[in-house]
Amino acid sequence: MEWCVSMPKVELHAHLNGSVRDSTLLELARDLGEKGIIEFADVEHVILKNDRSLVEVFKLFDLIHILTTDHSTVTRITREVVEDFAAENVVYLELRTTPKRNELKGMSKRSYVDAVLLGLRSVEHVDVVLTNAFSNGKISAVSSPAKNGSTRKRIYVGLLLSIDRRETTASAMETVKLALEMRELGIVGIDLSGDPRLGNWSTFLPALEFAREQGQFITLHCGEVYNPDEVRAMLDFSPHRIGHACLFEDDAWTKLKSSKIPVEICLTSNVRTETITSYDVHHFADLHEAKHPIVVCTDDSGVFSTSLSDEYRLAASTFGHPHAPKLKEITFFYITDCNAE
Ligand code: 5GP
Repeated sequence: MEWCVSMPKVELHAHLNGSVRDSTLLELARDLGEKGIIEFADVEHVILKNDRSLVEVFKLFDLIHILTTDHSTVTRITREVVEDFAAENVVYLELRTTPKRNELKGMSKRSYVDAVLLGLRSVEHVDVVLTNAFSNGKISAVSSPAKNGSTRKRIYVGLLLSIDRRETTASAMETVKLALEMRELGIVGIDLSGDPRLGNWSTFLPALEFAREQGQFITLHCGEVYNPDEVRAMLDFSPHRIGHACLFEDDAWTKLKSSKIPVEICLTSNVRTETITSYDVHHFADLHEAKHPIVVCTDDSGVFSTSLSDEYRLAASTFGHPHAPKLKEITFFYITDCNAE
């Protein structure tokens, strides 16, 4: 088996609805087409398209949400996404998703998260261990061998609840309170994501500050579009991790490096959405050279037709020696670094 597939890996930046199999999306679209809810022919090519700009990616998410947002489908896609990551030897998966309210489906944010948790419990082919590792510092358990001599694969999974940048302060606060309420059920913390061209940092700050006061773990999508004031404000907030870190002014870059805030690196996503012009100029190399804590991630394996193994292969082939032999360290570096007691 190729090294990047067989290597035990950690995935810390994967959006549930961005990681759905194309075959599942097509099946769901066909069903809705047959019910006359959508026109299948109009959406088929949208699902199968490979190159997408940032704007197209967010349009696609609106379509995916039409296809997936009922309880049983949320449960199904969660199960499939975990199975897919486990199949390529991901041993710790932090999945993130935005709790959604949908009155037509009788769905509340709580019932959405319950449906996700049901999906985690219904995975059959591997043992899923729910963890709230970041809040209790027990993440080192991911490397422990299976107990009772079991040869079944085991994957540790934690859930991050995402705040979408279209949300209000009250709605963001509701998500944070839900994460607190469900902490013991496998909720690891809070993520801020959604279309980076929308919303203001000040809208989410009260909820994020409350989350931090309550001891929640926080990761922010940061620097996906040029917005230096927001990048500075986010770094001042000192989140536990950030995702992307693409469009930073020099002062913010220096601050990031001295802060040692770990960065979730999503190579394919950044180049496909044209946030970064090409792989060879990606900031992966600079951060890795500086021994900054980074972790290679997929972002949206379905939307960008990638996998975590593909991302490691890509990093190795792009950045080559001396980075390639050290890639194995990257995936575990973060864990060691953040859980030193
Ligand atoms: P969900 O939260 O519905 O499970 O996953 C899809 C959602 O994740 C999208 O609607 C969007 O809010 C967020 N998301 C997925 N990929 C990206 C990304 O690359 N950047 C940002 N900012 N948000 C994303």
